[in-house]
Amino acid sequence: MSRYSKILVAVDLSDESAEVARKAMQAGDKESDYHLVFVQEPMDSVYLGAVPYGPVFVGMEEIETRLKSELETRMQALGGKFDIPESHQHILSGKPAPEIRRFADENSVDLVVLGTHGQKGMQLLLGSTANSVLHGVCCDVLAVRIYPC
Ligand code: AMP
Repeated sequence: MSRYSKILVAVDLSDESAEVARKAMQAGDKESDYHLVFVQEPMDSVYLGAVPYGPVFVGMEEIETRLKSELETRMQALGGKFDIPESHQHILSGKPAPEIRRFADENSVDLVVLGTHGQKGMQLLLGSTANSVLHGVCCDVLAVRIYPC
């Protein structure tokens, strides 16, 4: 039996997310309760470019609706691959690290699994989301190495 009964799998929905989920599966067992979490940072407006009288911004509503549907499709594909039901697939809004910590605390998660790095590449030893979650969360954290040393 696994030591971990509730596992939060934090994914940025990049290609590396499947590897993070695969390692999360190994950390738990068939009794473990898995929650797939993606956090979308809110966007107020988008910069379209400059015209002679100044910069042009448009509202984000339509773009956000399309983005939401694309994120849901990606989330469902990933969840389906690892048998994580839709009721356990969460698209949250806010800053990724604080939202991951909040979800973990409020839902009595006992393991957070995330990648050492996300879409932003490997400029740092540990990505900023990974670093911030690791320092602030109360449960165990498994950081899955995305790039070799
Ligand atoms: P980063 O620290 O941003 O390079 O990303 C490291 C890891 O944090 C990723 O591999 C994901 O596991 C997780 N992560 C990054 N961004 C998000 C996000 N927006 N939502 C959920 N998890 C994320």
